[in-house]
Amino acid sequence: MTDIEIAQKVKADHIKRIAEKLDIKEAYLEYYGNEKAKLPLDLIDKEKVDQSNLILVTAITPTPAGEGKTTTSIGLSDGLNCIGKKSVVVLREPSLGPVFGMKGGATGGGWSQVIPMVDINLHFTGDFHAIAMANNLLAALIDNNIQNRSKNLGIDPRTVIWKRCMDMNDRSLRNIVSSLGGKAGGIPSETGFNITAASEIMAILCLCKNLENLQEMCSNIYIGDTFEGKAVYAKDLNASGAMAVLLKDAIKPNLVQTLEGNPAIIHGGPFANIAQGTNSIIATKMGMSLGDYVVTEAGFAADLGAEKFLNIKCRKANLSPKAVVIVATIRALKYHGGLPLDRLTEENLEALEKGIPNLERHIESIQSFGLPIVVSINAFNGDTEAEKNLIYVYCKKIGVPVVLSYGWAEGGKGCIELAEKVVAAAQTCKAKFTPTYDLKDSSLTKIEKICRRIYGANNVVLTAKAKKQLNKFEGLGYGNLPICMAKTQKSLSDNEKLLGRPRNFDIHIREFEIAAGAGFIIPIAGNILRMPGLPLTPSSEKIKIDRKGTISGLF
Ligand code: ADP
Ligand code: MG
Repeated sequence: MTDIEIAQKVKADHIKRIAEKLDIKEAYLEYYGNEKAKLPLDLIDKEKVDQSNLILVTAITPTPAGEGKTTTSIGLSDGLNCIGKKSVVVLREPSLGPVFGMKGGATGGGWSQVIPMVDINLHFTGDFHAIAMANNLLAALIDNNIQNRSKNLGIDPRTVIWKRCMDMNDRSLRNIVSSLGGKAGGIPSETGFNITAASEIMAILCLCKNLENLQEMCSNIYIGDTFEGKAVYAKDLNASGAMAVLLKDAIKPNLVQTLEGNPAIIHGGPFANIAQGTNSIIATKMGMSLGDYVVTEAGFAADLGAEKFLNIKCRKANLSPKAVVIVATIRALKYHGGLPLDRLTEENLEALEKGIPNLERHIESIQSFGLPIVVSINAFNGDTEAEKNLIYVYCKKIGVPVVLSYGWAEGGKGCIELAEKVVAAAQTCKAKFTPTYDLKDSSLTKIEKICRRIYGANNVVLTAKAKKQLNKFEGLGYGNLPICMAKTQKSLSDNEKLLGRPRNFDIHIREFEIAAGAGFIIPIAGNILRMPGLPLTPSSEKIKIDRKGTISGLF
């Protein structure tokens, strides 16, 4: 059975029944149909947040074989509910880019899914749309200011970095010339589109505390310079009020459910290679206000997702996970050990052993934060006893708890052992995590610490352009901001071909971007696209709908 067939078999409970499990009074629910509701921010309760157990799910370096972080997160939360813990899974909203492109949805798989999966994967409650509108309002205001000759800020159109955005993989919009059509059409300039999930507004929505803070963060967005070289911000265009108004509902987390009728909160969806890669601070705190355990996922592997989750999000929100689950699969480890994709189903202990150093590097990274770890092997049909045993022996040797999880095949009951190990690990957590860098470190020192402690790199090499940009950003007063690395997710290094645990490599920073509103500096290592393209055979080609509205082919 495909993921969508399983999801369609299960009858969802009315969302008010799910809310009852969390003791949310019905008056608080803002219904979006019968299966989705938005939750108002006043349900966030600081005392409860402080008592709740935050569990982070991360993974080894992703491979085309797939790892299953979302599947494991949902299975683990269902597993925790199976053993009597009040657990909420808190996830990101899927972007339509990957849904119609290659990667697929973000609602889990098999018997560990969140529903209504079709809605969640498509327009859901309109949050992405609202984010794009807020983003595009600012773009329109900038162009309008440049057009208006009698009253303007003197913005040099060639310096404007603010782009429009849309939630679609559409490479044709990546670089465009806008404002054609003569005088009335504006001043022609080179610009482009980002995908909504890579936009700064998405990053802001996921890092803000409340509406007022959202408005303030929007006002701090840096958009470009005047002809005299003075920095221009969204506040100079009086843009942030209207932007925040457009986001007044998008800021509220969305309540849905797992296939087993346990609560799930899904909110915000920044990519992890260019942005911070985790759901909103508001959603995490909402989950922690309502549940004793919150299971959450950070995008891609621990080098990108977990590093940013901790150093950017948790630091800002004053949160700290009690335990970290590192997801690995035997197939993916064999791929890291050099076995080609079409041979991953064969038993191959040698390749597995060669691939384990990738897992080892991510374990060391999480240990550098001082957090308890559980390694969760997401079981696939075809994993052999000898292979499972090899990983068990390895984890035993290094003293890290390991468990096979069967969330995909069995749902929560397949994750009971994982849930028990996570509870035990969380009980051993005595302190908050140790950040990789201090905010007072210079930007370059921060980057070096990430590259050495998390990626295992030797040195950081900056191009002349990057050096110049960093000087400019530090001159504008951004030296104390955290770092949001933009790097390939496919390798610990900046070269996607280097699998396993690369050694003796440098990280090359091509250029910098600044997200002054979201509050981070983005060093760009290699070619990272803020607007992806579709693959040769997009997944959208398989999607169909019949007369009754039944959808097929959506995974
Ligand atoms: P991630 O969050 O790491 O990107 P997902 O949990 O979204 O990964 O899983 C990616 C895909 O792999 C999904 O389509 C899911 O159905 C599939 N998958 C996950 N775990 C398993 C498993 N144990 N066996 C088979 N397929 C799986
Ligand atoms: Mg995922």
